[in-house]
Amino acid sequence: MSPYLPIDLDKIAHNARVITGLCRDQGIAVTGVTKGVCGQPEVAVAMLRGGVGAIGDSRFENIARLRAARIGAPVMQLRLPPLSGADDIVATTDSSLNSELAVLTALSEAALKQGRAHDVFLMVDLGDRREGIMPDALGGLVSGALRLRGIRIMGLGTNLACLSGVVPSEDNMNRLVDLAAAIERDFGISLIWISGVNSSGLDLIASGHMPERVNHARIGEAILLGRETIHRRAWPGTFQDAFVLHAEILELQAKPSLPVGRRSQDAFGGRSPVEDQGTRLRALLNIGREDVGDGALTPSDPGISVLGASSGYLAVDVTEGAGTFRVGDELAFAPNYGALLAAMTSEYVKKRLLSGDTITGEHGRAG
Ligand SMILES: *Cc1c(COP(=O)(O)O)cnc(C)c1O
Repeated sequence: MSPYLPIDLDKIAHNARVITGLCRDQGIAVTGVTKGVCGQPEVAVAMLRGGVGAIGDSRFENIARLRAARIGAPVMQLRLPPLSGADDIVATTDSSLNSELAVLTALSEAALKQGRAHDVFLMVDLGDRREGIMPDALGGLVSGALRLRGIRIMGLGTNLACLSGVVPSEDNMNRLVDLAAAIERDFGISLIWISGVNSSGLDLIASGHMPERVNHARIGEAILLGRETIHRRAWPGTFQDAFVLHAEILELQAKPSLPVGRRSQDAFGGRSPVEDQGTRLRALLNIGREDVGDGALTPSDPGISVLGASSGYLAVDVTEGAGTFRVGDELAFAPNYGALLAAMTSEYVKKRLLSGDTITGEHGRAG
């Protein structure tokens, strides 16, 4: 009826084991990132089972969902906390990434009011131009933050390869380590964590060239989809098919590949060139942009190719499989990260947890 998305928890736990093992060998602790699955608690449990020390998510609602499922592991707020949400962040998370003194001040007030300590990582922009204070302003932020009670500065962090695709390197990681050393010297404090990379840093970690002081990574995609994110190469020893999206064939018709009539923009304002390939067998499936956004779907069957999508339909070319498909059959696709994120968010895509963990009792505080 509806498109559905089986989630193989054992494969996710396995991937987490591979990634945390690699990082552990280089002295790096891993926070598993669940934002790609909307904080699905069973996925968090699978990550914890695979050895991540904590869970991170960008959305407060996802973290609240984890807590409601009695995930007791330390949870990190990855997206910068909103000034208006300091009370909730302190009450529900253990730590957050920050770059604004006004927000740190609000977190401090909330922490004192609640009698609950809150750990903060100060984010530095080392070139990707998403979150983080510019390096020359870091000293001012630290000096302001040190006057605040209730919050503890646990370390420095940076985020790369997200908004601008800047690649983590020995250079920019050394820059982070040098900044940490300068802060420690200037303010007489010690920083426990240097949080360097996300899934884009796996090559650097595996190469053995990650500066020694970088001891923390925040990893989502590599655990969920088994890929590093610089070249989107499959990571050795991990599964790429923990998530497989299934959709049903609603219409199966041979049609000329060329549209007929004067062409204007499509339903989403785009204009797609179409090549004349003669008559092709086309299937229309019950999944569309409302479910996968701009994300990419790779057909599990290499003989199938995606032609395009509107809000409720995906059009695929199944000419090579002519004779094997029927209306009502299901086709399977590997979602990329964008498609996974959208499918997890779409209420029309039914999630099916395979194997592994059902949530009972408290998770993540095991001895
Ligand atoms: C999403 C996010 C991550 C995880 O990124 P992946 O590429 O999925 O590993 C890490 N850090 C921050 C700040 C994030 O927002």
